[in-house]
Amino acid sequence: MSEFVIQTRGLVKEYRGRKAVDQLNLEIKHGEIYGFLGPNGAGKTTTIRMLLGLVKPTKGAIRILGKDLQKEKLSILGKVGSLVEYPSYYGHLNATENLEAIRRILDAPKSRIAEVLDIVSLTKEAKRPVKGFSLGMKQRLGIASALLGNPELLILDEPTNGLDPSGIQEIRELIKTMPEQHGITVLVSSHLLSEVELMATKVGIIREGRMVFQDTIERLRRQAETGIRLSVSA
Ligand code: ATP
Repeated sequence: MSEFVIQTRGLVKEYRGRKAVDQLNLEIKHGEIYGFLGPNGAGKTTTIRMLLGLVKPTKGAIRILGKDLQKEKLSILGKVGSLVEYPSYYGHLNATENLEAIRRILDAPKSRIAEVLDIVSLTKEAKRPVKGFSLGMKQRLGIASALLGNPELLILDEPTNGLDPSGIQEIRELIKTMPEQHGITVLVSSHLLSEVELMATKVGIIREGRMVFQDTIERLRRQAETGIRLSVSA
Protein backbone atom coordinates (compact mmCIF):
# COMPACT_ATOMS: atom_id res chain seq x y z
CA MET A 1 0.00 0.00 0.00
CA SER A 2 1.25 3.49 -0.84
CA GLU A 3 2.28 5.63 2.09
CA PHE A 4 0.33 8.54 0.57
CA VAL A 5 -3.41 9.03 0.40
CA ILE A 6 -2.92 11.98 -1.94
CA GLN A 7 0.21 12.62 -3.96
CA THR A 8 0.44 15.09 -6.82
CA ARG A 9 3.45 15.70 -9.00
CA GLY A 10 3.94 18.91 -10.97
CA LEU A 11 0.22 19.67 -10.97
CA VAL A 12 -0.66 22.60 -13.22
CA LYS A 13 -3.97 24.18 -14.19
CA GLU A 14 -4.02 27.00 -16.67
CA TYR A 15 -6.99 29.17 -17.54
CA ARG A 16 -6.42 31.15 -20.73
CA GLY A 17 -2.66 30.89 -20.35
CA ARG A 18 -2.70 32.00 -16.71
CA LYS A 19 -1.62 29.45 -14.11
CA ALA A 20 -4.23 29.04 -11.33
CA VAL A 21 -2.18 26.10 -10.00
CA ASP A 22 1.53 25.91 -10.71
CA GLN A 23 3.75 22.83 -10.22
CA LEU A 24 1.98 21.67 -7.09
CA ASN A 25 3.40 18.67 -5.23
CA LEU A 26 0.89 17.75 -2.54
CA GLU A 27 1.77 14.94 -0.15
CA ILE A 28 -0.82 13.71 2.32
CA LYS A 29 -0.26 10.56 4.34
CA HIS A 30 -2.71 8.13 5.94
CA GLY A 31 -4.22 9.46 9.16
CA GLU A 32 -3.26 13.07 8.58
CA ILE A 33 -5.48 16.11 8.87
CA TYR A 34 -4.00 18.28 6.16
CA GLY A 35 -4.78 21.99 6.38
CA PHE A 36 -4.68 23.41 2.85
CA LEU A 37 -4.18 27.12 3.27
CA GLY A 38 -3.95 30.16 1.08
CA PRO A 39 -5.54 33.56 0.57
CA ASN A 40 -8.58 33.98 -1.68
CA GLY A 41 -7.73 33.15 -5.28
CA ALA A 42 -4.58 31.17 -4.35
CA GLY A 43 -5.78 28.04 -6.16
CA LYS A 44 -7.22 25.87 -3.37
CA THR A 45 -10.60 25.24 -4.99
CA THR A 46 -9.02 24.58 -8.39
CA THR A 47 -6.69 22.02 -6.78
CA ILE A 48 -9.57 20.36 -4.92
CA ARG A 49 -11.64 20.21 -8.10
CA MET A 50 -8.75 18.45 -9.83
CA LEU A 51 -8.42 15.98 -6.94
CA LEU A 52 -12.12 15.18 -7.27
CA GLY A 53 -11.85 14.67 -11.03
CA LEU A 54 -14.13 17.66 -11.72
CA VAL A 55 -11.45 19.63 -13.59
CA LYS A 56 -8.78 18.17 -15.83
CA PRO A 57 -5.20 19.22 -15.02
CA THR A 58 -3.26 21.00 -17.75
CA LYS A 59 -0.18 19.03 -16.64
CA GLY A 60 0.97 16.73 -13.88
CA ALA A 61 -0.09 13.55 -12.12
CA ILE A 62 -2.52 12.82 -9.29
CA ARG A 63 -2.38 9.63 -7.24
CA ILE A 64 -5.11 9.02 -4.68
CA LEU A 65 -5.07 5.98 -2.39
CA GLY A 66 -2.09 4.74 -4.37
CA LYS A 67 -3.83 4.79 -7.76
CA ASP A 68 -3.66 7.06 -10.80
CA LEU A 69 -6.77 9.27 -10.78
CA GLN A 70 -6.92 9.53 -14.56
CA LYS A 71 -6.92 5.75 -14.99
CA GLU A 72 -9.04 4.61 -12.04
CA LYS A 73 -11.33 7.53 -11.38
CA LEU A 74 -14.53 5.68 -10.51
CA SER A 75 -12.99 3.18 -8.10
CA ILE A 76 -10.98 5.94 -6.38
CA LEU A 77 -13.82 8.42 -6.06
CA GLY A 78 -16.01 5.74 -4.47
CA LYS A 79 -13.65 5.95 -1.49
CA VAL A 80 -13.60 9.75 -1.28
CA GLY A 81 -16.21 11.87 0.49
CA SER A 82 -16.36 15.58 -0.22
CA LEU A 83 -17.97 18.83 0.78
CA VAL A 84 -17.01 21.43 -1.78
CA GLU A 85 -19.65 24.12 -1.54
CA TYR A 86 -22.69 24.86 0.58
CA PRO A 87 -24.77 21.75 -0.02
CA SER A 88 -28.36 22.20 -1.18
CA TYR A 89 -31.06 20.40 0.75
CA TYR A 90 -34.77 19.78 0.49
CA GLY A 91 -35.65 22.30 3.23
CA HIS A 92 -39.08 20.85 3.99
CA LEU A 93 -37.61 17.35 4.48
CA ASN A 94 -35.88 16.35 7.68
CA ALA A 95 -32.20 15.39 8.06
CA THR A 96 -32.85 11.66 7.77
CA GLU A 97 -34.95 12.09 4.62
CA ASN A 98 -32.28 14.27 3.00
CA LEU A 99 -29.60 11.66 3.78
CA GLU A 100 -31.88 8.88 2.53
CA ALA A 101 -31.96 10.47 -0.95
CA ILE A 102 -28.15 10.34 -1.13
CA ARG A 103 -27.94 6.91 0.52
CA ARG A 104 -30.05 5.43 -2.28
CA ILE A 105 -27.77 6.85 -4.96
CA LEU A 106 -24.72 5.42 -3.17
CA ASP A 107 -26.51 2.16 -2.33
CA ALA A 108 -25.15 2.39 1.22
CA PRO A 109 -26.78 0.28 3.97
CA LYS A 110 -29.82 1.88 5.64
CA SER A 111 -28.12 1.63 9.03
CA ARG A 112 -25.44 4.04 7.82
CA ILE A 113 -27.81 7.02 8.17
CA ALA A 114 -28.05 6.65 11.96
CA GLU A 115 -24.29 6.11 12.13
CA VAL A 116 -23.40 9.29 10.25
CA LEU A 117 -25.96 11.38 12.14
CA ASP A 118 -24.34 10.16 15.34
CA ILE A 119 -20.84 11.00 14.07
CA VAL A 120 -21.85 14.61 13.30
CA SER A 121 -23.91 14.92 16.53
CA LEU A 122 -27.23 15.45 14.76
CA THR A 123 -29.08 12.41 16.10
CA LYS A 124 -31.42 14.56 18.16
CA GLU A 125 -32.18 16.73 15.12
CA ALA A 126 -32.80 13.81 12.78
CA LYS A 127 -36.52 14.46 12.40
CA ARG A 128 -36.35 18.26 12.16
CA PRO A 129 -36.94 19.92 8.77
CA VAL A 130 -33.59 21.13 7.46
CA LYS A 131 -34.95 24.61 6.70
CA GLY A 132 -34.76 25.30 10.47
CA PHE A 133 -31.07 24.32 10.67
CA SER A 134 -28.30 26.84 11.34
CA LEU A 135 -25.50 27.11 8.75
CA GLY A 136 -23.23 25.11 11.07
CA MET A 137 -25.81 22.32 11.34
CA LYS A 138 -26.20 22.32 7.55
CA GLN A 139 -22.42 21.99 7.17
CA ARG A 140 -22.40 19.08 9.64
CA LEU A 141 -25.21 17.48 7.66
CA GLY A 142 -23.05 17.99 4.55
CA ILE A 143 -20.22 16.15 6.28
CA ALA A 144 -22.70 13.40 7.24
CA SER A 145 -23.61 13.09 3.52
CA ALA A 146 -19.92 12.87 2.62
CA LEU A 147 -19.50 10.06 5.16
CA LEU A 148 -22.44 7.98 3.91
CA GLY A 149 -20.30 6.02 1.45
CA ASN A 150 -17.80 5.04 4.18
CA PRO A 151 -14.89 6.97 2.62
CA GLU A 152 -11.19 6.57 3.38
CA LEU A 153 -10.54 10.20 2.48
CA LEU A 154 -12.59 13.31 3.20
CA ILE A 155 -12.01 16.48 1.17
CA LEU A 156 -13.58 19.62 2.62
CA ASP A 157 -13.34 22.96 0.82
CA GLU A 158 -13.63 25.79 3.35
CA PRO A 159 -16.21 24.01 5.54
CA THR A 160 -16.05 26.74 8.19
CA ASN A 161 -16.64 29.62 5.77
CA GLY A 162 -19.33 31.95 7.08
CA LEU A 163 -19.77 30.15 10.41
CA ASP A 164 -19.81 31.83 13.79
CA PRO A 165 -17.09 30.89 16.33
CA SER A 166 -19.15 28.11 17.95
CA GLY A 167 -20.03 26.65 14.52
CA ILE A 168 -16.33 26.73 13.59
CA GLN A 169 -15.41 24.96 16.81
CA GLU A 170 -18.02 22.24 16.25
CA ILE A 171 -16.73 21.53 12.75
CA ARG A 172 -13.14 21.54 14.03
CA GLU A 173 -13.93 19.07 16.83
CA LEU A 174 -15.78 16.87 14.35
CA ILE A 175 -12.88 16.85 11.87
CA LYS A 176 -10.44 15.99 14.67
CA THR A 177 -12.30 12.71 15.32
CA MET A 178 -11.92 11.50 11.72
CA PRO A 179 -8.48 9.82 11.65
CA GLU A 180 -8.47 8.11 15.02
CA GLN A 181 -12.12 7.23 15.49
CA HIS A 182 -13.09 6.57 11.89
CA GLY A 183 -9.85 5.81 10.06
CA ILE A 184 -10.40 8.70 7.65
CA THR A 185 -7.66 10.99 6.30
CA VAL A 186 -8.78 14.61 5.85
CA LEU A 187 -7.85 17.45 3.52
CA VAL A 188 -9.48 20.67 4.72
CA SER A 189 -8.98 24.03 3.05
CA SER A 190 -9.22 27.46 4.61
CA HIS A 191 -7.91 30.96 4.04
CA LEU A 192 -7.34 31.37 7.78
CA LEU A 193 -4.48 29.66 9.58
CA SER A 194 -6.30 30.24 12.88
CA GLU A 195 -9.15 28.00 11.68
CA VAL A 196 -6.98 24.99 10.88
CA GLU A 197 -4.02 25.20 13.23
CA LEU A 198 -5.91 23.65 16.14
CA MET A 199 -6.85 20.56 14.15
CA ALA A 200 -4.29 20.05 11.38
CA THR A 201 -1.33 17.72 11.76
CA LYS A 202 0.21 18.97 8.52
CA VAL A 203 -0.14 22.19 6.59
CA GLY A 204 0.29 23.12 2.95
CA ILE A 205 0.28 26.81 2.10
CA ILE A 206 -0.21 27.99 -1.45
CA ARG A 207 0.08 31.44 -2.87
CA GLU A 208 -0.58 32.29 -6.53
CA GLY A 209 -0.88 28.58 -7.28
CA ARG A 210 2.51 27.64 -5.81
CA MET A 211 3.26 25.72 -2.64
CA VAL A 212 5.23 28.00 -0.33
CA PHE A 213 5.24 25.75 2.74
CA GLN A 214 4.40 22.09 3.33
CA ASP A 215 5.29 20.45 6.60
CA THR A 216 4.03 19.56 10.06
CA ILE A 217 2.10 22.04 12.16
CA GLU A 218 4.97 21.98 14.69
CA ARG A 219 7.47 23.14 12.06
CA LEU A 220 5.04 25.84 10.94
CA ARG A 221 4.81 27.10 14.53
CA ARG A 222 8.59 27.20 14.77
CA GLN A 223 8.65 29.34 11.63
CA ALA A 224 5.89 31.65 12.89
CA GLU A 225 8.32 34.54 12.95
CA THR A 226 9.11 34.22 9.26
CA GLY A 227 6.01 36.06 8.11
CA ILE A 228 4.13 33.03 6.77
CA ARG A 229 1.40 33.56 9.34
CA LEU A 230 0.71 37.11 8.25
CA SER A 231 0.63 36.28 4.58
CA VAL A 232 -1.94 33.53 5.10
CA SER A 233 -4.25 35.33 7.46
CA ALA A 234 -4.40 38.58 5.52
P1 ATP B 1 -11.17 31.18 -2.84
O1 ATP B 1 -10.84 30.97 -1.41
O2 ATP B 1 -11.50 32.62 -3.16
O3 ATP B 1 -12.16 30.20 -3.41
P2 ATP B 1 -9.05 29.66 -4.04
O4 ATP B 1 -7.75 29.57 -3.34
O5 ATP B 1 -9.97 28.52 -3.90
O6 ATP B 1 -9.78 30.98 -3.61
P3 ATP B 1 -9.39 29.34 -6.88
O7 ATP B 1 -10.88 29.48 -6.81
O8 ATP B 1 -8.84 27.99 -7.13
O9 ATP B 1 -8.73 29.94 -5.56
O10 ATP B 1 -8.85 30.35 -7.98
C1 ATP B 1 -7.49 30.43 -8.38
C2 ATP B 1 -7.35 31.34 -9.58
O11 ATP B 1 -7.91 30.69 -10.73
C3 ATP B 1 -8.09 32.66 -9.44
O12 ATP B 1 -7.32 33.67 -10.05
C4 ATP B 1 -9.38 32.42 -10.22
O13 ATP B 1 -9.87 33.62 -10.75
C5 ATP B 1 -8.90 31.48 -11.34
N1 ATP B 1 -9.99 30.59 -11.81
C6 ATP B 1 -10.58 29.61 -11.07
N2 ATP B 1 -11.51 28.98 -11.81
C7 ATP B 1 -11.49 29.55 -13.05
C8 ATP B 1 -12.22 29.32 -14.28
N3 ATP B 1 -13.15 28.38 -14.38
N4 ATP B 1 -11.90 30.11 -15.33
C9 ATP B 1 -10.95 31.07 -15.25
N5 ATP B 1 -10.23 31.33 -14.13
C10 ATP B 1 -10.49 30.59 -13.06
